Amino acid sequence: MLTPASKLELEKQGYRIVGSHSAVKTCGWTKNMIRGEGGCYKLKFYGIMSNQCMQMTTSISCANRCTFCWRGYKAPVSKEWKWEVDTPEDIHAGAMHAHHQLLVGFGGSPTANQAAYAKSKEIKHVALSLTGEPIFYPRINESLALFNRDGVSTFLVTNAQYPEQIRDLKPVTQLYVSVDAPTKEMLKEVDKPLFKDYWERLLLSLDYLAQKKQRTCVRLTVVKGENDVLLDKYAELIKRGNPDFIEAKAYMHVGPSRERLTQENMPLHEEIISFSKALVKHLPDWEIVSEHVSSHVVMFAKKKFKINGVWHTWIDFEKWHELVNNDPEGKLFTSMDFLRKTPQVGLSGKGSLDSMPEEKRKRFLAEKKELSSYGEEAYKFVDEKTEEMEFYAGKEEKEEIEEKLVITK
Ligand code: SF4
Repeated sequence: MLTPASKLELEKQGYRIVGSHSAVKTCGWTKNMIRGEGGCYKLKFYGIMSNQCMQMTTSISCANRCTFCWRGYKAPVSKEWKWEVDTPEDIHAGAMHAHHQLLVGFGGSPTANQAAYAKSKEIKHVALSLTGEPIFYPRINESLALFNRDGVSTFLVTNAQYPEQIRDLKPVTQLYVSVDAPTKEMLKEVDKPLFKDYWERLLLSLDYLAQKKQRTCVRLTVVKGENDVLLDKYAELIKRGNPDFIEAKAYMHVGPSRERLTQENMPLHEEIISFSKALVKHLPDWEIVSEHVSSHVVMFAKKKFKINGVWHTWIDFEKWHELVNNDPEGKLFTSMDFLRKTPQVGLSGKGSLDSMPEEKRKRFLAEKKELSSYGEEAYKFVDEKTEEMEFYAGKEEKEEIEEKLVITK
């Protein structure tokens, strides 16, 4: 699948190529958590321990050329699978080995929290995203079965260009479909899709997503000045997919995407909040639940996850593994059968406004008037306790942190 040159290029960027069409790369948040600097937004929203998470793909190839993609265009694009197919066992073993090799430097490192590093040796979560289209791998269901066997939860992201693969996909812990624009014309601009029937493929993918019984999520990547409009149209697509969760996430001005977009195209966290507050007005079955400021992301959940007035968006991973290993087709259980209460007090950091250079802050505050149509409360937002602090601390320190947390309430 890869030319020697593109393989070399990707390995220079920190990827480890596994077999002929898979890859692993350590997520920045995995490193962050091992350094004791906190976990990713999926820890906060769903309970993923970022230090025990492996980021990988089973297909480096993709059928889109999204303008906001932070990965280079080194990976091939194709509509058909035209390469040899590596075995799920080889990919599984190769990926886990490569992941551990990439983290081995933390052992004994003064920058690492050794308790968090020790835990990282036990992979508990896999994010099938990284680059390309993991769902495109013809034996993806066998890969999922290996992760279920090993007690590794599975988050899989797809850009909705392979609807049949979504239809035939065995249960994953959380299935993501990316909706990158509200209209057919704009999707063409933003995703540069290969398939002529790209729009029909998106609609069919959303139909199949709506039929899934386990956790589903629609991810919006908001590119300021490009696709942050027509919220009613976004709402129509979201309702069609009927996901359990929605994530409105800012485009991040990083990597090769800077050759195609500017810093101005990256929304501030406050702008993602305003976008979300406007969007939720079109989505009566969902509510905004949480935010992660440093990732510029807001999470919505179906109201059914608010049980007796308390949000339950975290995953009971033990229960998930018990259910999926007893019922691999997922016919007998739903996303409501493996929930945990979402923790509830503040630890997340400041808004991006606080960390903005003076000049830019002045300009933004001038714009603020324009945003005030969304209402003042757009800037005041709930926070969440993520329990990750206790993870770093020994017993005695736990009490100390508990005390501190009580103070911050
Ligand atoms: S869930 Fe995603 S963001 Fe979080 S640690 Fe894993 S790969 Fe990184």
